[in-house]
Amino acid sequence: MADAYDLLLKGGEVIDPSQDLHQHCDVAFRDGRVAAIEPGIAASASDEVIDVSGYLVTPGLMDIHGHFFHRGWPGAVDPDTACLPSGVTTGVDAGSTGWGNYQALKTYILDPSDTRIYAFVHLAATGLTSLTARIGELQNLAFAQIDQAIQCIDENRGDVLGIKVRIDHRATGEANALPALEMAREVADATRSKMMVHVSGTPIPLVRIFDFMQLGDIATHILNGHAHNILDGNGRIRQEVREARERGIILDVGHAGVHFDLNVGHAAVSQSFWPNTLSTDIHNPPPGRVVYDLLGVMSTFLALEMPLDAVIASVTANAAAAIDQSGDLGTLRVGSIGDAAVLDLREGEYTFVDAAQNQVQAGQQLTSVLTVKDGKRWRQPVAPVR
Ligand SMILES: [Zn+2]
Repeated sequence: MADAYDLLLKGGEVIDPSQDLHQHCDVAFRDGRVAAIEPGIAASASDEVIDVSGYLVTPGLMDIHGHFFHRGWPGAVDPDTACLPSGVTTGVDAGSTGWGNYQALKTYILDPSDTRIYAFVHLAATGLTSLTARIGELQNLAFAQIDQAIQCIDENRGDVLGIKVRIDHRATGEANALPALEMAREVADATRSKMMVHVSGTPIPLVRIFDFMQLGDIATHILNGHAHNILDGNGRIRQEVREARERGIILDVGHAGVHFDLNVGHAAVSQSFWPNTLSTDIHNPPPGRVVYDLLGVMSTFLALEMPLDAVIASVTANAAAAIDQSGDLGTLRVGSIGDAAVLDLREGEYTFVDAAQNQVQAGQQLTSVLTVKDGKRWRQPVAPVR
């Protein structure tokens, strides 16, 4: 008999928040998509069968803030070594390039990578590459061209999600913060696309930034510990932050080491104010700074006592919703794209840190067992012999 399925993950504990599912069952893939999800699928029905009992099975993880312009900017990483080995099948490049160099990101990274990558185009024409010379990308607004940014987004609809801008002392300074937000808003409106706004180390109050943001826009580095963070003087979530979420603004972590503070994270989780999405801002850090992969960020939030199902939701169903891909990604619904992560929730003694040298102790940590991409088991390509 012809095999009904290409791949079968058997015996795992499936967590798929898109279907309110948390139970032991089998997941089968065919032709790159999820073909069945139910208990007791016969092993004989599949070409390849992997016993994943004792492990968690989730939709392929999604990291909506990373920097993947590998070799185009020294800070950027190769998505196929930064994502897939950690169960991350979809990543978003958060404005490493602008309209002037986006085509290189597409040609050399988006198109050839095994990892599925989307991108935000930076308001600055050359994206973050000026940081190579330690020059903030919008210290001079002459680096931003609204018309070309609009054209770049319009011409790359399938890959580009919208416009990125960083409101930060080093990126814009105070003088250029509001003009940069105005320009980014104009680009997002003209293209009916999203704004992703960096809100860490901002020279202006958070509420002034939220004034420019709308339903579906993403505020990243939301749990930073710098001035103008989400907490009031009593450690409570500011009312304007709650209102921003009620308006549909997506609150994203973008950990990065420097843009996440454990005390702010603890305050948010203990007030049950969970971020919509957990993400890494993965990049090559300078010496002495720890940047976690997505499993490290997820494990940090488990240590802060965010519930496991909520942690999984934030990197699957919520992340897919944040980039308008709920039908296909971040889910194990039959017919959706066949991406999955098999994870081990390992017991032990672990410590997670932030840039302020705060620490949190943990009794468990998520590690990757294997990754399924487009219905096939992903394997690290063997490096060619030189
Ligand atoms: Zn970033």
